[in-house]
Amino acid sequence: MNKVSQGPKFVVERAEGAWLWDDNGDRFLDGTASLWYCNIGHGRRELADAVHRQLTTLDAFAVYGDFANRPALELSERLASHAPVVDPRVILTCGGGESIETAAKLARRYWAAQGRSGKRHLISRTGGYHGLHGIGTGIIGMDRFRTGFGPMVEDASVVPYDSVRALEEEILRVGPENVAAFFAEPVIGAGGVWAVDSAYFNGVSEVCRRHGVLFVVDSVICAFARMGNWFGIERYGVRPDMIVFAKGVTSGYQPLGGVITSGEVAEPFWNRSDNPFHHGTTYAGHPTCCAAALANMDILEREDLFTVAIELEAQLDAAVRSLADHPLVAEVRSGTGVMAAVQLTEEALGERGITTAEVFAEARARGVILRAVPHSLLISPPLIITWEQIDHLVSTLRSALDAVA
Ligand code: PLP
Repeated sequence: MNKVSQGPKFVVERAEGAWLWDDNGDRFLDGTASLWYCNIGHGRRELADAVHRQLTTLDAFAVYGDFANRPALELSERLASHAPVVDPRVILTCGGGESIETAAKLARRYWAAQGRSGKRHLISRTGGYHGLHGIGTGIIGMDRFRTGFGPMVEDASVVPYDSVRALEEEILRVGPENVAAFFAEPVIGAGGVWAVDSAYFNGVSEVCRRHGVLFVVDSVICAFARMGNWFGIERYGVRPDMIVFAKGVTSGYQPLGGVITSGEVAEPFWNRSDNPFHHGTTYAGHPTCCAAALANMDILEREDLFTVAIELEAQLDAAVRSLADHPLVAEVRSGTGVMAAVQLTEEALGERGITTAEVFAEARARGVILRAVPHSLLISPPLIITWEQIDHLVSTLRSALDAVA
């Protein structure tokens, strides 16, 4: 009897490289790096060893008060050294959603510390996904995740994902004296893979600076080589006030996330017993998670998965664009980072009642794991995927589309 959750379960038993095996021993290609996170691929002995070593050295002692642990300190230093943030400081958490809460609270607290406690409003983008904790639910750019809970954040609004002017108009409508921060992913991931160009990010960066709005980049999906660099946002040449990260920091081997904040935002609270930032959770900066992150970063650097990702980006783009001629396909979005969306036509989704869940199921029955969102199939493979595996993934998706057509 399945008592875990609703419905029957597909049990993933083991994994190696870009492959997964279920409890029948059948093999599947992991076309999504699980939930956009297993960047270094599955089954890396080095990470298991790092976690084991840590468990047999310092297994568990929380980071709070003036307590720290070596892996947490080393990881913070290392993350800071790569971050495109001025005078970076690192706050570790247990995941992406928790980091969004942290960044939003820090933004409001920062303004309050400047005597501007009216600056509470948070602005995000259509299609933006920022986790499903309280504030994340309140600012998410997809209605289906917001409804049924009542307002989680009273002072929040969503602007079109690609318009600098819409952001500025919204700041002026709300009043700059009321706006704390603007949240944006380098490329919108879970919302359906929507990329913008450098002009957009340079524009929002300038608008935020001019109106005194903190610019928070949510790099939970885009960091750790998925866009060929450390945090994704480097591609656009801007320096945000905060970067939120998670997922690829450990390639998902252990749960970890965090916020990298500029010194200016952190300074009112950093090492200040008279004015601390009262925020934190029990497992944040857990030594085993930080050990996994350090080993993960070693692999990213040693195997130069940054360069690999740039090559894969082009390969995936070319392969997935071949699906654009399929009668069920409205649009293919790819070419910025190792991620892609294949969107079905309105006719297929509407009149014909075809669902992306059906396409997902057909692909899985043929041995390929994709991700279905209401309009699109999403692809975000581990960065160790081979070109042959990408071709296999895309040809399987074509067969799945044929099967439901
Ligand atoms: N932000 C982005 C861009 C994400 O894609 C996600 C998760 O998919 C989150 C935040 C939330 O992360 P978590 O699921 O670890 O809470």
